[in-house]
Amino acid sequence: MKSVQLYIGEVKKGTGRTFFDLQEEVFPSVRLGREDVLFTQPVQIEVHLVNCGSEILVEGRLRTALLLHCARCLEPFLYPMDIPFRLELRNASRLTRPSDFEAEAEETVEIRYFTEEENYVDVTQEIQEIVLLNVPMKPLCRPDCKGLCPVCGGNRNEVQCHCEEQEIDPRLVVLRHWKPE
Ligand SMILES: [Zn+2]
Ligand SMILES: [Zn+2]
Repeated sequence: MKSVQLYIGEVKKGTGRTFFDLQEEVFPSVRLGREDVLFTQPVQIEVHLVNCGSEILVEGRLRTALLLHCARCLEPFLYPMDIPFRLELRNASRLTRPSDFEAEAEETVEIRYFTEEENYVDVTQEIQEIVLLNVPMKPLCRPDCKGLCPVCGGNRNEVQCHCEEQEIDPRLVVLRHWKPE
């Protein structure tokens, strides 16, 4: 698995320092439940780092495309992604009391810690999480996908079968043959 490293050597030099970076990494797939979702293009990560004194703020954008399967017709389709994200990088050595970590754990923004000696922060896991969080629960190849026919299994986007006309509630079949005496 490839990794995504953010270079912080430049911004670490002082408050107000900024750094822009654009990188592309090839991720073969990402695990989603019991399924391996394939990437159809490299993951492009654009980041803008700012040293805000107490932390390094990362404003980023992630672009890629996944090969998903439609929840209705089961056909594979391309799902492009363009997701803005935010991370905070904090110097672990500035946190003295254990309670500092606890207090920060309750914050909602994704926080990563680095040590004084580190010039790179590995955010591979965060990037994968961002991708996973943005995969729809029920992906659709198109908003009006007609899905599969429950009778013949045909893709209703492609073929117009006439199963619906024959589809009758079995209770109604009984009624149809029932004749009053
Ligand atoms: Zn579909
Ligand atoms: Zn049908």
